[in-house]
Amino acid sequence: MSNPFDTGILKNSQIKYNEPLSRHISFRLGGEAKRFILLDIADAPALLKELAASGEKYAFLGNGTNVLVRDGGFDGTVIKLKSGEVQVNGGRLSVSAGTTLAQLAQTACEHSLTGLEFAHGIPGTVGGAVMMNAGAYGGEIKDVLVNTVYCTPEGEVRTLTQKEHRFGYRTSFFKEHPEYLILSAEFEPKRGESSEIKNAMAELARRRRESQPLDKPSAGSTFKRPEGYFAGKLIEDSGLKGFTIGGAQVSQKHAGFVINAGNATCRDVLALCSHIQKTVYDRFGVTLEREIKILGEE
Ligand SMILES: Cc1cc2nc3c(=O)[nH]c(=O)nc-3n(C[C@H](O)[C@H](O)[C@H](O)COP(=O)(O)OP(=O)(O)OC[C@H]3O[C@@H](n4cnc5c(N)ncnc54)[C@H](O)[C@@H]3O)c2cc1C
Repeated sequence: MSNPFDTGILKNSQIKYNEPLSRHISFRLGGEAKRFILLDIADAPALLKELAASGEKYAFLGNGTNVLVRDGGFDGTVIKLKSGEVQVNGGRLSVSAGTTLAQLAQTACEHSLTGLEFAHGIPGTVGGAVMMNAGAYGGEIKDVLVNTVYCTPEGEVRTLTQKEHRFGYRTSFFKEHPEYLILSAEFEPKRGESSEIKNAMAELARRRRESQPLDKPSAGSTFKRPEGYFAGKLIEDSGLKGFTIGGAQVSQKHAGFVINAGNATCRDVLALCSHIQKTVYDRFGVTLEREIKILGEE
């Protein structure tokens, strides 16, 4: 296969061809990426510059826990950042955007820093969480983030302060700029008591296990919370629990989750999402907006 860019610019990164993306997303479905790069941060400026100049399609992937991949795959380059150690400087935590939230929250706990307990059970990376302003049980990324460092398609590395992120419910500056790669982030949790932090994380994990279908592939909550309602409750009250299209199913345990009940295709999931949206609208007049993104499209 001819390369649209010089792969010699990748010093510490790995490149694979025709990589099945089902291995990299929590829904466990979808086709292949023409190229898949596990990227070292130091290689990011040169790579983005080369890719932008080549006109090649590219998309960023974190832990793949909020995305779908089309059945036909992605005809371009998928870039996933390597994870790294969490650096602790006084009360601040600095981390590569490819590191998981679980690792970040665990390190905070080990250093008696409180404020990241909510993030421990969210299965994404720091990059995906900043992009989405991920949140749970009353906490959100915006509450603890100090700044992020990102790379532009021109290969320029810039810093963004907390305010400049313009965080909102499941949105941030980076949603308006999908061309920017978040490289790292800095957090400032507060001083706390390690045993209390540990207990809080265990309690939230218990609540998740009790209420969410964690044994089935999914991408978490399928729809955003419409103002004044809960998506899961609207879907359940529409009689859709267990409703199935192909291999995609509305979870019996939590109607807010569409799950891969076995060999689901991306097409199945999207058809089920449309059916849910139509049914809920017809019944309650409420528009459900999909939270899950399609890789490289939104
Ligand atoms: C079982 C389960 C439970 C969940 N519970 C929650 C929850 O409680 N709260 C919640 O908010 N979410 C939840 N989610 C959804 C998901 O985990 C979050 O949205 C998470 O923040 C996504 O992170 P990710 O690394 O997996 O991102 P991905 O899904 O890989 O990517 C999401 C978006 O971010 C972009 N992106 C990823 N990394 C970067 C980067 N470095 N630079 C630029 N863009 C990037 C991608 O291009 C994509 O557009 C859950 C998901 C599952 C499967």
